[in-house]
Amino acid sequence: MAQNFPLTPNASPLTGMKKFEKPIYITKPFMPPLEEFTEGLKEIWDNQWLTNSGPLLQRLSGAMSKFLDIENLTLFSNGTLALQIGLQGLGITGEVITTPFSFVATTHALYWNKIRPVFCDIEPDFYTLDPQKVEAAITPWTTAILAVHVFGHPCNLEALADIARRHNLKLIYDAAHAFGVKVGGKSIAQYGDLSMFSFHATKIYHSIEGGMLVFPDPSLRTEVDYLKNFGFKNEVEVVMPGTNAKMNELQALMGLHVLKYLPALIEKRRTLADRYRQRLKAIPGIHLPPQPPAGVDYNYAYFPIEVDEQEYGMSRDQLYENLKKYNVFARRYFYPLICDFACYQNVPVTDPLEVARGVAERILTLPIYFDLELEQVEGICGLIEFRSGFVRSNV
Ligand SMILES: *Cc1c(COP(=O)(O)O)cnc(C)c1O
Repeated sequence: MAQNFPLTPNASPLTGMKKFEKPIYITKPFMPPLEEFTEGLKEIWDNQWLTNSGPLLQRLSGAMSKFLDIENLTLFSNGTLALQIGLQGLGITGEVITTPFSFVATTHALYWNKIRPVFCDIEPDFYTLDPQKVEAAITPWTTAILAVHVFGHPCNLEALADIARRHNLKLIYDAAHAFGVKVGGKSIAQYGDLSMFSFHATKIYHSIEGGMLVFPDPSLRTEVDYLKNFGFKNEVEVVMPGTNAKMNELQALMGLHVLKYLPALIEKRRTLADRYRQRLKAIPGIHLPPQPPAGVDYNYAYFPIEVDEQEYGMSRDQLYENLKKYNVFARRYFYPLICDFACYQNVPVTDPLEVARGVAERILTLPIYFDLELEQVEGICGLIEFRSGFVRSNV
């Protein structure tokens, strides 16, 4: 089975499994054809306009608006600053209920606004915030919920909206993983009071680095646009202590080109994810998230599995280390939990985070990207299947 992809000649004598010739990382940035990009560079050279709301940035804003079918959006130099500014623009203070099972920037954005994170548990299928536990975590100081569509899985949108409405809280989504996801035919950007998208090179859609805020209330626009440009209202008026978080023209050019390929990028990942599913579902101790529910158009941005040590016969960490020996670099996203990083260890946590702690111990995210080949997926699955070989080769 593992014979149709490039292998090194030195197979492991104990397992018969061979090492991939070149390392396979968890992801790879999609590069649009160079000729297309250089055409665009000529335009930037002609314009002699590199940043500060240039013509390409405006074109990308228009394209995004059309793509998401939404009016109010604004582009940023990266997703982290976008989220920080979004929280500030909405005037969030006090406590915010959030998930510990995410990339650390989700909580950092709260910290930079002097907001206290209240870590709340996730649900076991899709790893998004558990609405019941969110409701239990509300205090008189709670002002918002900051939920994450982790791995591109939509949060429980209705339940969270209902809680937010009943308790008069803002509902904010870190949608860094969810670009291209639709729910009920609508872009996921159309839910909540604010969504942040990241266009970092490692994400499914990218502009080298970049970010975006999307929101239904048009009056938020002026504020966040001031905040990302030092608080300038015009040449002579600075109306707030803003920062610098503007997207530049080269980022916008990349964003415009990658956007054209997004449907193809999602489709390719779908075929890879299907193959992973077919091959892994029968392996005892390897658990896959359920298929997204009806009505969700998923983006297949990540392929997480859970490793049950008892059933599989090997721990997640052993599997992770062993895959590395065969040149497969999976990642333990998201481990450790955010609340366990040194900088957040003194934040009081009342929720036992039972589900999140278990998932963080078992989770492994497998390589998935536009030019990963089905044969390579077969090879990776073969390595996961032949766990007994790993155990022996370790002795
Ligand atoms: C990548 C990421 C961010 C940060 O986005 P940047 O564009 O890299 O600043 C925030 N939250 C999550 C969940 C992410 O994966």
